[in-house]
Amino acid sequence: MNKEQVKCLIIGSGPAGYTAAIYAARANIKPVLYQGLQTGGQLTTTTDIENFPGYPTGISGTEMMENFREQAERFGADIRFGIATSADLNQSPYEITIDGEKIIQTETLIIATGATAKYLGLPEEDTYAGMGVSACATCDGFFYKKKVVAVVGGGDTACEEAIYLAGIARKVYMIVRKPYLRASRIMQDRVHHHENIEILFEHNAEGLYGEHGVEGVKLVKRLGENDEEHYNLPIDGFFLAIGHRPNSDIFKPYLETDETGYILTIDGGPLTRIPGVYAAGDVADSNYRQAITAAASGCKAAIEAERYLSELEYQRSINQE
Ligand code: NDP
Repeated sequence: MNKEQVKCLIIGSGPAGYTAAIYAARANIKPVLYQGLQTGGQLTTTTDIENFPGYPTGISGTEMMENFREQAERFGADIRFGIATSADLNQSPYEITIDGEKIIQTETLIIATGATAKYLGLPEEDTYAGMGVSACATCDGFFYKKKVVAVVGGGDTACEEAIYLAGIARKVYMIVRKPYLRASRIMQDRVHHHENIEILFEHNAEGLYGEHGVEGVKLVKRLGENDEEHYNLPIDGFFLAIGHRPNSDIFKPYLETDETGYILTIDGGPLTRIPGVYAAGDVADSNYRQAITAAASGCKAAIEAERYLSELEYQRSINQE
């Protein structure tokens, strides 16, 4: 297989990956970045971004990520199409296979592969993407001021999203498939006692409808062993909160992850237990999952990579003397 040697390899093109590329390129460690399956990452699936500092009038997710990429390229980052399909982190230089056909050997590796929000799999989730369907209340909630929205899920994320949305929207329905919530007791109490939130237990969403965006959800309510009721509920926004899947599969044999697959780093920073291998952004963050926090961790990872390479170079120069 074709092999190429680099000093710094970054995988992922969300805010973490591109920020790492900006810092690494400016530090002259000549980063090569592979964009992965979803160029620009999760932000390209949202509408406008209004909470990233520096954009007083907001900016579309796609445009912001294009800006990130341009900024990295301006300093010489080598940004390429391609997906990391396997990894060998047993020894340095670490080997990452791209598209199953090329091996990149790298002294430092920044894993910024992100996480993917889970969707129900309804065809209308695609049809109305950015037009009423969202998997991020913090990103898109603002557009539902005094409107009616539904949140799918009964875990802590769903409760958090419902509470956040209840501060903006007129009414929030929670669509919960079981007769109880899975969330922690404190979160359950909060949603139960919130006057804007109504929990629809034993409900499933089976479709969405609307002419120019979401106007309602088709629900099915379980009534007993063999009985159910189908009905339409008018809503303006449909939020998924049924969990995220971190894109960490190929690294799991080498790096510690939690039970969901989030990479566990040292003290929550970018360092992993493998020298020269860093994790940044949502792949290592089940908690904040924001563009700004991902960007910050990408910056930290690149600074660590630069320090590591400097130290390596210094050690090599001593050994040569
Ligand atoms: P969870 O896996 O805890 O919950 C997912 C929810 O979505 C469950 O209610 C589940 O239902 C429901 N669900 C899953 N698939 C479907 C489906 N196909 N149709 C309908 N409903 C579905 O994920 P979270 O993202 O909520 O939480 C992940 C982890 O992060 C948890 O450990 C959580 O405690 C933690 N967390 C902590 C927070 C905090 O402490 N502030 C905030 C957010 C998350 P069912 O119960 O029936 O399986």
